[in-house]
Amino acid sequence: MADRIAIVGAGIGGLALALGLARAGKRLRVYEQAPELREIGAGVSLSPNAVKGLRYLGVGERLEAMADEPPTQVTRHYANGKVLVNFRRHNTREQQGAPYLQAHRADLHDLLRERLAALQPDALVLDKELTAVSDDPAGVYLLGFADGSQAGADLLIGADGLKSTVRREVFSEPAPEFSGFVAWRGLVTRDELGAEQSRPGSMVFVAPGRMFVRYPVRHGALQNFVAFSRADNWTAEGWSQTGDIVSVRGVFSDFHEDARVVLSAFSGRRCHMWGLFSRRPLPRWVRGRATVLGDAAHPMLPWLGQGAAMAIEDAVILCRSLIEFEEAGEALCRYEHARRERVMVIHRQSLLGGDRLMQQDPDELARRPVVTEETLGLSHYDPATEPL
Ligand SMILES: Cc1cc2nc3c(=O)[nH]c(=O)nc-3n(C[C@H](O)[C@H](O)[C@H](O)COP(=O)(O)OP(=O)(O)OC[C@H]3O[C@@H](n4cnc5c(N)ncnc54)[C@H](O)[C@@H]3O)c2cc1C
Repeated sequence: MADRIAIVGAGIGGLALALGLARAGKRLRVYEQAPELREIGAGVSLSPNAVKGLRYLGVGERLEAMADEPPTQVTRHYANGKVLVNFRRHNTREQQGAPYLQAHRADLHDLLRERLAALQPDALVLDKELTAVSDDPAGVYLLGFADGSQAGADLLIGADGLKSTVRREVFSEPAPEFSGFVAWRGLVTRDELGAEQSRPGSMVFVAPGRMFVRYPVRHGALQNFVAFSRADNWTAEGWSQTGDIVSVRGVFSDFHEDARVVLSAFSGRRCHMWGLFSRRPLPRWVRGRATVLGDAAHPMLPWLGQGAAMAIEDAVILCRSLIEFEEAGEALCRYEHARRERVMVIHRQSLLGGDRLMQQDPDELARRPVVTEETLGLSHYDPATEPL
């Protein structure tokens, strides 16, 4: 195993890998560009495959105690509120080997970070934006940071998200492409929304070219919302910015009261706005002793709610490979081999999801077979026991 392991990016994927390696007694460094580690105010859906990965990392019990387990996922017509699909999750835990959970992103992030800090207090280095990577003939990587400092690494893992610098520097792949959708995300408190509207269960309202998702987190203390709409282009510098809630209310003004009530209750003036980008998964994930995971390797559209789940699965498989195979090159190849096909399938399914959910006639959804990550058979996967 390589001596100096460098992970770039302390998102869910980077922290998950760091925690797994630290639990196995490996020394590592996680370089994160942000001066302070903060997750955005939004929820995250964690399908059973992701929960199994988090159990492997030793955080399953805490996560299950803090997260919500929605009994149903109801898809409704955007205007008249008619139920088009009522997908029950009451058997998920038994049938898929783990529950489907919904949590505050910050709670998951904090959990991973705290466990890592308890094992290796100096692992996480903040305010370190990677800007360049070079390597010498012996395969040692020299990492250059925006503050002018440098660090060496024998093994380099890019967990640095959609606009990955590791991917650009090591794999020279083209830039991500705008998908034609934007999303706004925010959280509303139970006091703002009222007890009646804070009941368990997630709701999705579908319209041609638009969609509104809401579900409770922190046991109903907060209601998470994600509002999607088609957009011609994305002109902002980065891939997220803040959006004006008044204009969001305008975009969804013809939606059913049970959707609009959440936007009306939102007390902040601004909420997070995202351009949704996609990128073909890398044809090869390994070059020398460098690899990528999560959004850095295969950013996908959120229609199946599998982006964070794939980052967690990647992290667990890579961690197991690095523990099991002494030679780093072999470990990385085992990781790529174990992951590539599954990720390609899910990436493709995620692309199809937008057209299916936001089609011209929402009533069509009631006439077609139900498609979720569970009916597609994605939730059975257990990254802790998959063959390497
Ligand atoms: C609207 C929306 C809703 C979603 N909902 C879900 C959901 O319900 N379920 C789900 O599974 N997925 C969901 N996703 C997808 C999910 O959020 C991502 O796939 C997941 O967060 C990817 O994790 P990651 O660790 O790979 O990357 P990121 O979370 O992007 O983390 C990358 C980290 O790297 C750091 N970084 C970047 N560049 C550098 C650099 N040069 N130097 C140092 N550090 C750097 C960043 O600051 C960041 O901390 C959603 C996405 C969107 C946009």
